[in-house]
Amino acid sequence: MEHTNIMKSIEETQAHTQYRICSRCVMDTSDCEIVFDANGVCNHCRRAEDLITTRLSLYKSGGAYQIDQVAARMKASGKGKAYDCIIGVSGGVDSTYAAYMLKKLGLRPLAVHFDNGWNSELAVKNIEVTLKTLGIDLHTHVVDWEEFRSLQLSFLKASVPDAEIPTDHAIWALLYQTATRFGLQYIISGTNISTESILPQSWTYGVSDWTYIKNIHRTYSAKTLGSYPHASLGKFIYYVMIRGIKTFSILNTIDYNKDQAIEVLERELGWTNYGGKHHESIYTRFFQSYILPVKFGIDKRRAHFSSLIIAGTMTRAEALCKLETSIADTGLVQEDLQYVSKKLDMSLADFEKLMEAPVKSYTDFKSNAELYRKLKRLMNVGKRWGLLPAQMGL
Ligand SMILES: [Zn+2]
Repeated sequence: MEHTNIMKSIEETQAHTQYRICSRCVMDTSDCEIVFDANGVCNHCRRAEDLITTRLSLYKSGGAYQIDQVAARMKASGKGKAYDCIIGVSGGVDSTYAAYMLKKLGLRPLAVHFDNGWNSELAVKNIEVTLKTLGIDLHTHVVDWEEFRSLQLSFLKASVPDAEIPTDHAIWALLYQTATRFGLQYIISGTNISTESILPQSWTYGVSDWTYIKNIHRTYSAKTLGSYPHASLGKFIYYVMIRGIKTFSILNTIDYNKDQAIEVLERELGWTNYGGKHHESIYTRFFQSYILPVKFGIDKRRAHFSSLIIAGTMTRAEALCKLETSIADTGLVQEDLQYVSKKLDMSLADFEKLMEAPVKSYTDFKSNAELYRKLKRLMNVGKRWGLLPAQMGL
């Protein structure tokens, strides 16, 4: 599809609702669940500000969440074991910098990578080179491709904007499974409030909802997911409550600046920049540059830039200027379209049919979304009363 047609499709998708944009960040009505206050400020701004003032202050104001204290607890928990903690790596900036920080703290992490068959060559090289330089062992889980292909196709056929959930859920489950296998208590994550505080649920839902994933797959495929890494809510409760496994977002303990992190990784670890956010995977690059904007009218840069605006590292004017350039302008959309269709074993005509099918959401399928909402409310009460760790999340 030509660039002008892509832009036209995005505009047509946006035209279905009365268009409105937040007066503080750049989130807009492409999130169908967005709410604005009397000053035109959106719900995402309020939540992100709350995260920054409550969650980040935990790490910066001292106490049990300070990095040195957490590192000491990780070392103590790793005594007599092969490693102190687990870290998921993708070859991207955030996870690589998180691994770099762990080594600086004198910790012994085991890196875990989920190979879903879509890695770019550069991502694989980045993982190999940086972990070798850091002296970190790597455990790679290579997915059963036929199983995974059937799951990815099921999500595309379901017409929901959650086509990355099969990868995100598998990584999430794999980290808990590997931590359990090695008897480890800490999972270190590269997710961070400085660059990722905003991501609407209507744009992506289901990372920890196996009921939703299973239901979509059963609706569109007869294949059994025998070896696909997954975890039910019951299993998650087992990992957290019985095994005592904790997740820790290490980048929240510093004033994380991605540009500075890139400089360090290039200079010290031989890491190579690959361009856009999460473009280490060919499927992710194509999904974010083509499927999401053209079919769903979603430009994920809005959430990313809005996070940076709230963190004070980008101005709203800068973000609006960058958004004027189409997300499809990576120059690789046509090439990726051919590659993705072929790898998923679909004709271009069949792929276009999927693109034209009416849009659905997670609310059209059986899921645990309502149960999770109730649990989150309960967890918030538990956190306020000091019964649960403040950074615990579903
Ligand atoms: Zn906003």
